[in-house]
Amino acid sequence: MDLVTGGAGYIGSHFIKTYLNRFPESEIVAVDNLSQGHAGALSMSSRIHFEQEDIGNTEAMVEILRKYEIKTVIHFAANCYVGESQENPAKYFQNNCIHTLNLFKAMQICGVKQIVFSSTCATYGNPVYSPLDEQHPQNPINVYGSTKLMTEQALRAYSLAQGWSYVALRYFNAAGADESGLIGERHDPETHLIPLILQTALGKRKAVQIYGNDYDTPDGTCIRDYIHVNDLATAHIAAIKYLRENPGGEIFNLGSTRGSSVLDVINTCRKVTGRDIPVEYSARRPGDPPLLVANAEKAQRLLGWTTRYDLRQIVETAWQWEQHPQFPSGR
Ligand code: UDP
Repeated sequence: MDLVTGGAGYIGSHFIKTYLNRFPESEIVAVDNLSQGHAGALSMSSRIHFEQEDIGNTEAMVEILRKYEIKTVIHFAANCYVGESQENPAKYFQNNCIHTLNLFKAMQICGVKQIVFSSTCATYGNPVYSPLDEQHPQNPINVYGSTKLMTEQALRAYSLAQGWSYVALRYFNAAGADESGLIGERHDPETHLIPLILQTALGKRKAVQIYGNDYDTPDGTCIRDYIHVNDLATAHIAAIKYLRENPGGEIFNLGSTRGSSVLDVINTCRKVTGRDIPVEYSARRPGDPPLLVANAEKAQRLLGWTTRYDLRQIVETAWQWEQHPQFPSGR
C-alpha cells in the first residue's frame, strides 16, 4: 500500500481523492497529526486508513509502515506559511526538517525506499531569470524555502548512500478546490491570497491587503504562478509511476507556466463572483520574491503531465468551496 503524510491537509486530501478515483481497487494510508489538517477531509472514502500520528514519532511510524506493508511514501506533511516561517523559524526547522528526518529514519528501519516529496518554488529565492527551470540557482529568501531545500538535499544524500528513489515536486502556488465540493482549502489562520479574496467577497473580511505595489512588475504587485490543486494531484500520480520505473532521484517544477499579479487575481475574483472586493495597500511581506513563474517543460516531457485548469477555473472552484465549506472550523 502507499502512505500519505499530511493526508488530511489541503493538497494531501486532494491527492488522496484523485488517487482513489484513478485506482478504483486501491486503498491508501493517511497519516496526519491534525495540527492543521481536517479529519473531515478524509471522510470521503472508506478506502482510506487514517492514522492520527505525528511523522516525527519514529517508533509509531515504524509500526504504521510495517502494519500496512508500505511501498511508497507521499510526503505532504509540513508547515507552509512564508510569513510565519520568518517569525518562527524554530517551528519550521523542527517540523519540516527534524520531523521529516525522523520519518526518514522510520523508512530506513522498514526498508521503504520510495518517496514523493512536496517541495516548493520558494527554494529558488529571487529569480535571476524567468520562467524558472529546475536548474535555476536555489537561494531561498525565506525560512520555509530553506527547510524544503534542506530536505531536498537530504533526499539526494539518502538516494546516493542508500539507494532511495525519490521525486521532489517543486510546487508553485497551489489553489482551487475539487469540483465535488467535498474538499477544499481551509487553513487556520488563512494567509493565502485566493481564499482571503473570496472571503472578502463574501463579506467575512473587510478588505484584501495587497502586500506591496512597488515591485518591479508591470502593475507593481507580486507575480505568482497559480496551479490547481487537482493538477498537482495528477502530477503526484505520474511521479509515483516515474520513480518506480526510474530508480534514483528527479526533481520537477509544477506550475501552470502563466504568471498572474495580485491585481490580476483580484480582478479574476471580481469577475467570477460578480462582487465588489475592496482592497487596501500595505507594506511588502518579508520573504516575498517579486516574481515566481514556472518552466514546467520537464514535467510535461518526462511525466507526461499537463494542467487542466486556468486561473478562472481555479477561482471558480475555490468560490464554490468558499460558499459551502464542508469543514468550516475546528477539525
Ligand atoms: N498576498 C497579498 N495579500 C494577502 C496574501 C497574499 O498581497 O493577503 C500576496 C503575497 O505577497 C504573494 C501572493 O499574494 O505575492 C501569493 O501569496 P500566498 O500567501 O497566497 O502564497 P505564497 O506565494 O506565499 O506561497
